[in-house]
Amino acid sequence: MTTIFEYAPAPESRAIVDIKPSYGLFINGEFVDGHGSSFKTVNPATEEVLAEVAEADDADVDEAVRAARRAYTRVWSRMSGAERAKYLYRIARIIQERGRELAVLESIDNGKPIKESRDVDIPVVAAHFFYYAGWADKLEHSGYGSTPLGVAGQVIPWNFPLLMLAWKIAPALACGNTVVLKPAETTPLTALLFAEICQQADLPPGVVNIVTGAGDTGRAIVSHPDVDKVAFTGSTEVGKAIARAVAGTDKKVTLELGGKAANIVFDDAPLDQAIEGIVNGIFFNQGHVCCAGSRLLVQESVADEVMERLKRRMATLRVGDPLDKNTDVGAINSAEQLAKIRELSDIGEAEGAERWSAPCDLPTNGYWFAPTVFTGVSQAHRIAREEIFGPVLSVLTFRTPSEAIEKANNTPFGLSAGVWTDKGSRILSMANRLRAGVVWANTFNKFDPTSPFGGYKESGYGREGGRHGLEAYLKGADA
Ligand code: NAD
Repeated sequence: MTTIFEYAPAPESRAIVDIKPSYGLFINGEFVDGHGSSFKTVNPATEEVLAEVAEADDADVDEAVRAARRAYTRVWSRMSGAERAKYLYRIARIIQERGRELAVLESIDNGKPIKESRDVDIPVVAAHFFYYAGWADKLEHSGYGSTPLGVAGQVIPWNFPLLMLAWKIAPALACGNTVVLKPAETTPLTALLFAEICQQADLPPGVVNIVTGAGDTGRAIVSHPDVDKVAFTGSTEVGKAIARAVAGTDKKVTLELGGKAANIVFDDAPLDQAIEGIVNGIFFNQGHVCCAGSRLLVQESVADEVMERLKRRMATLRVGDPLDKNTDVGAINSAEQLAKIRELSDIGEAEGAERWSAPCDLPTNGYWFAPTVFTGVSQAHRIAREEIFGPVLSVLTFRTPSEAIEKANNTPFGLSAGVWTDKGSRILSMANRLRAGVVWANTFNKFDPTSPFGGYKESGYGREGGRHGLEAYLKGADA
């Protein structure tokens, strides 16, 4: 029998954040009014409008790219690596100092639980700036040369707004490039607070430019003729459009796209740990994770036991107010994303899979989806093939390691995988056969700036993080 505990609410105060009624674009070190229109950003947990944000048009993007080019030519590329490092260290320290403010703002604008933004997103953001600050004066030892590319145009998604910004901006700046970055249209606020941090750190004007907007603004960045490098994280569909847009130009490109990771549980695995790993794999950040363990492959002999324990654990997940420190699963980021999750889940049921959702009371306002698991899933089902990008797990079974490998690799994606066995004993025989950029052994969703991250197949190309992450922003050893 499951005991459901009652918890007193423990909300984090939002008094620490100062959300302005409207925001301009951050170009050449200043906030300026755009030439275009504006859009609203909404708190997905309440549907409250948080702010009106400028929508950059082609002329605004052109201004931002010009500012980045001037800063590149006159200041940033001429500065020694050691000097650039000082700015990056300063930014990293300010991120730590303003960590609570950043975490609260991220949870309000994105819907993720405060315990995740506070304990995962923001510390890893700061760690990224510290890590790449350390490389800035050691690039000649990177193996990729030390010559920057120029102006980088960077477009990011909404699932880890500030973390994706850090993955893009920290290595670019460390290598001597300047940037024009566009955050996602549903989560612009922490990028705009980061712009304030750049001012606070006295970063030379134009080294970082933040232009807000939706797909058209992203397109304008990607197709701007004076952008030397395009770095994109987002859906495979848009990634393909970007690859087409830059084909035939000499722009360097990295694409970090979608995933449909297998989390593989063998019958000798420590099941208590594995259950936590399955839960973390798919319900962390509401499942809005490119490398989420959205396909559970469980060995047939333990499938019943794993499912029973998993449902028992899922029933204890607390879904609700992202600012409550008890919350495990927050709000879905937008009405559009919620509609996509609902649609694919309904298709799963129509295709014959069996659906089970954790019994939880969902708030009436905002966008919510209960943690859900599908059993009786076959390889042909759309819920086994397509990225749902929400708190929905599809369960398949296998008998032998070869069958597990075959099923795990039977996907157009190749971003990550998890393998659960006794003391990690099977990891060496499995890892090389899994077509995935990251393979975790007896853990899942662990991120570290020293470790490269990226995909195979339709999950994209190029690596972010670690020494490998420098390659995307340098001309190469022979340059
Ligand atoms: P999306 O592709 O819809 O949007 C991503 C960004 O691209 C947004 O800023 C958007 O405004 C912009 N954009 C949209 N159309 C564009 C165009 N034609 N040209 C240029 N920019 C354009 O993706 P999303 O829904 O925001 O994010 C979810 C997706 O991101 C998922 O598929 C997820 O797997 C993926 N993702 C991948 C990684 C990774 O590292 N591989 C990390 C996080 C998210």
